Amino acid sequence: MTKFEIHQFICRTDNYGVLISDKNTGLTMSVDAPDAMKIDEELEKKKLNLTHLLITHKHQDHIDGIEYLKKKYNCTVLGPELEKDQIPQLDITLIGDEYIDFSGSPIKIIETPGHTLGHIIFFFEREKILFAGDTLFLMGCGRVFEGTHEQMFESVKKIRELPADTVIYCGHEYSMANAKFALSIYPNNKNIKNRYEYIQKTVSEKKYCLPTTLEVELNTNPFLLYDDPVFKNELGKIKSTDLEVFSETRTRKDNF
Ligand SMILES: [Zn+2]
Repeated sequence: MTKFEIHQFICRTDNYGVLISDKNTGLTMSVDAPDAMKIDEELEKKKLNLTHLLITHKHQDHIDGIEYLKKKYNCTVLGPELEKDQIPQLDITLIGDEYIDFSGSPIKIIETPGHTLGHIIFFFEREKILFAGDTLFLMGCGRVFEGTHEQMFESVKKIRELPADTVIYCGHEYSMANAKFALSIYPNNKNIKNRYEYIQKTVSEKKYCLPTTLEVELNTNPFLLYDDPVFKNELGKIKSTDLEVFSETRTRKDNF
């Protein structure tokens, strides 16, 4: 149970906007700022006052709305120290492995380099809710634009070590494409097959596939299956290390 109300909506084409609010204190946070107008509209609709803006990484589709939202709400903007020169109007920079407080709840900042070098994610430790940005997606993981496969592997591993009942929100709705890929490389896995069908149905009903849970991802996300012997065998990588299996999966997805 959480005291927070979480409101998720699509911005741009496939970015997720997400607002986390505590009705008792009136504090409201947005994770990333993909689209100022859309976020503003949702805030107005819910009668919320934006107090915090947490930025996962510097890509334009995550920071586009900062200026407008900061001007209108005078919210505190927090984001990665390593990308402070590319992200406008940061009030507080975060290096990872520290905690911030939001409405009396501790949020762990976790460094997850790979997609970008400064990427950070936000874990509400008490509520077990993770905002994974572009590091992990439903049945997928972020493209490795700046880091190495090894860095991304270590970042994904940090997520895999969180409690299994962690609820995960992601930066994009890529579920259908990810499910197709997962099924293509692991066609005989019953969990993946079932989930593919579930996603197909959900998308056809124009509903959101997210949030997900770590427990479900552990069984169906090919980027978390690097030590599953059956999966390794399907890839022809039975003798490979976990990192090699992860890297092979990432390369295949890049070329899918
Ligand atoms: Zn990105």
